Amino acid sequence: MSKVYLTGAGPGDTELLTMKAHRVITQADVIIYDRLANPKILEMTKSGCEFVYVGKEDGRHTLPQDEINEVIYQNALKHNIVVRLKGGDPFVFGRGGEEGVYLQERGIVFEIIPGITSAVSVPAYAGIPVTHRGVAVSFRVVTGHESPNKEVSQIPWENFKTDDTIVFLMGLHNLEKISSKLQEIGKPKDYPCAVISRGTTKEQSVAIGTLENIVQRAKGLLTPALIIVGHVVELREQLQWFEKN
Ligand code: SAH
Repeated sequence: MSKVYLTGAGPGDTELLTMKAHRVITQADVIIYDRLANPKILEMTKSGCEFVYVGKEDGRHTLPQDEINEVIYQNALKHNIVVRLKGGDPFVFGRGGEEGVYLQERGIVFEIIPGITSAVSVPAYAGIPVTHRGVAVSFRVVTGHESPNKEVSQIPWENFKTDDTIVFLMGLHNLEKISSKLQEIGKPKDYPCAVISRGTTKEQSVAIGTLENIVQRAKGLLTPALIIVGHVVELREQLQWFEKN
């Protein structure tokens, strides 16, 4: 009986893979993966394991999602242990839900293996806690893929006036628009902001600034990258650790 494992690969550092993810990766007959997964993970597979690349970058799909769904389904008809590997957590902007629904509708048995999401772990490796007593009592994880200038926005920008931490994923190409939009809704221009590129890997690079100067400071940073906005960013001064090791 074949089974599909919709598996989170974590943010990049292979040691942030869960034990469960590691187990199914070592047992897999086929791995269907995208760009975000650290390629070293593919070296953990047994001999004879097949690989299918369906990569996507910043929300731009190499393969449209419905084709990816079909690729997973077709592999489930051929193989026993199918691992669909995704960066971070499969249900945090990972479209794992859509893949699960597609399989459920076709009678394919699946399991979800949550992963460590970049939304929390990448700031942690930059020494930025997403919540902190007296600084931020909640955090939001928002898509940065949608342009803030879009006429009918799905993003409730007006709700972002509070001091809660905001993490934007897939937003590097919209950084300028996002920082202007946040100032437009009333955040001061010296409000703390950071961009973290390739977090948890040896290429990790961090730009610290304000809504006013972050575009300048983040110049040249590569994807994948996330944007974090809030006073928690100031804690990096004391909590920075990764670059010191
Ligand atoms: N499911 C993933 C997110 C998919 S959206 C998760 O839970 O992490 C892809 C976005 O995640 C990227 O555009 C970027 O904003 C962020 N991201 C993923 N890995 C990252 C990394 N190592 N460093 C910085 N940002 C990362």
